[in-house]
Amino acid sequence: MGYSVWYDLFLFLLLFALFGYVFATVRITNLRKVYFLFHFFMMLWPLCQFATDVTRDSQLQLLYVTLSFVSLSMLGSGWLLLTIFLTGNAGLLGRTRLILLSVPAVIAAAGVAANPVHLFVRPLEGGYIHRAYGPWFWVMIVILLSYFFASLSFLFRSMYSSKTLLTIKKQVRITLWGIFVLAAFACADLVLNVFLAKWLPIIPGLTSVGIFISALFFAYVIKRYNMFDLVSIAQEDVINTIPYGILVLDENESIIEVNKTLRVSIDLKAGDVFDMERFLDSVRVDGSSGEFLDNYTRRENKSAQIEIIIERDILRHFILQASPIVDSYYMHIGRILTFQDVSQERFLVKEMNLQNKILQERNHSLNQIRNELSEANKKLEEMALTDSLTNCFNRRYLAQQLSHEVITNLQYRTPFSLILFDIDFFKSINDRYGHVIGDEVLYHTAQTVKQSIRGTDILARYGGEEFMVYLPHTERFLAEQLAERVRSSVEDSHLLVEHEIEPISITISMGILSIETFDLVTDYVPNDPEEYLTGLFAAVDKALYQAKQNGRNRIEFADYESVS
Ligand code: GH3
Ligand code: MG
Ligand code: MG
Repeated sequence: MGYSVWYDLFLFLLLFALFGYVFATVRITNLRKVYFLFHFFMMLWPLCQFATDVTRDSQLQLLYVTLSFVSLSMLGSGWLLLTIFLTGNAGLLGRTRLILLSVPAVIAAAGVAANPVHLFVRPLEGGYIHRAYGPWFWVMIVILLSYFFASLSFLFRSMYSSKTLLTIKKQVRITLWGIFVLAAFACADLVLNVFLAKWLPIIPGLTSVGIFISALFFAYVIKRYNMFDLVSIAQEDVINTIPYGILVLDENESIIEVNKTLRVSIDLKAGDVFDMERFLDSVRVDGSSGEFLDNYTRRENKSAQIEIIIERDILRHFILQASPIVDSYYMHIGRILTFQDVSQERFLVKEMNLQNKILQERNHSLNQIRNELSEANKKLEEMALTDSLTNCFNRRYLAQQLSHEVITNLQYRTPFSLILFDIDFFKSINDRYGHVIGDEVLYHTAQTVKQSIRGTDILARYGGEEFMVYLPHTERFLAEQLAERVRSSVEDSHLLVEHEIEPISITISMGILSIETFDLVTDYVPNDPEEYLTGLFAAVDKALYQAKQNGRNRIEFADYESVS
């Protein structure tokens, strides 16, 4: 055999390595990759068998026999991988486990390829069309059978597991049939062409037929269940690229799928059992989880959602929505959990609430200032209307009130009276006791008068030691009684002051004006109320003057007609 054979083999190996590289890095799912690898090894077997039979060169025959058995050795691991992926157990396979799983197959293949001291195969009749197998052949067969039984155990386990989805079960059943057909033909090949080779003529292509028929089964599964469907590939792409976290659970809460987005935030992987209650205990829940869990465990066919907060490096808020997956009979066969990251929104709401609170606080202090201002204003108003020494109303207030009241009284013919009184000999009180005591006498007199008049009467300091009392709804007769009461209460109210043995006796003189007869003032409503009031004040002042003239500590009535 010339060098050209090895050169071709070298090129083939290079090309195969290139295929392997492209194949491993291309963006298709692992299930598809495993299937193509599996199919590749299946194809290699009949091709090499054919090549062996048509070549006369025994070295080439050895090369083809070696290649076909290398591919058969690898077929076992491909088988196992395919069943693992098919039954949804891909989550079990990490990189290390994948390598470990292929080690026996690689060892078997290496032994086949090396064929040391014809341990694997030996030529008969000078070539390899007829050949005798050595012990390594049986080692390879045992390894192959181990893979076969391991994959059978996976298939059967998922067939009878309650966790397996119905569609997967159907796929597994058809795959099992394919494997049985392949096993049956391979066994027949082994028995007829190896064990009974001495007595029976070689029946060619038995394993190849088995491989072909089982490949038909696999092709059927792939087509029937759209395993390589572009839409499902796209869906998988979408699932892995959208900004939502997605978790797909089967009817037993086993995780079927965790998309890339979710894997970043949560430590979950396919194959784990998802316990919602434990999960909610491990995160912070916004509000109460009771109603959500209730809905979740009752498995009603409607969505439920809850907000959770996960703290890793930073706090992140998610809206977790659980939606049921139902079959065509509305039976619950799984769930989709979506995790929507709403951290940004929550942050903005928090910021807004904070600003709102600051605004509210400012508003509150503004209100407080406003209240204080209105309180101060009220005080100012009071101060503007009251006399600070005697605490009675001042003359301004009296004038203001009377300008309304008197006109109304005239309009409705309501009688009213005015009293003007002045403390007798006040100058001598000042002179004798001093101004401070004089002030005290003023205050004391005002308080005594206040207690003697009615609640509706208005007492105002008119000026100096003169006061005016407005008596609404009061005729002359009643006004006189009231005035007398006031006068005598002041007279009786002796004021005791410090350092003085004798109390200070105070008397007042009073002028009274009563408007009670309206005949003469029929329809008299003055155009200028102020002028009218001045007239009233002058009249009552005149009466007071009369009282002083007539001996003080007495009452005099104003001449009524002087009003109109
Ligand atoms: P009469 O009225 O009986 O004729 O004699 P009188 O001594 O009271 O005379 P008049 O009414 O004219 O005197 C008023 C005095 O009152 C003059 C002023 O010094 C004093 N007076 C006025 N306002 C105040 C005040 O607020 N406090 C004090 N202590 N004295 C005042
Ligand atoms: Mg006076
Ligand atoms: Mg006086």
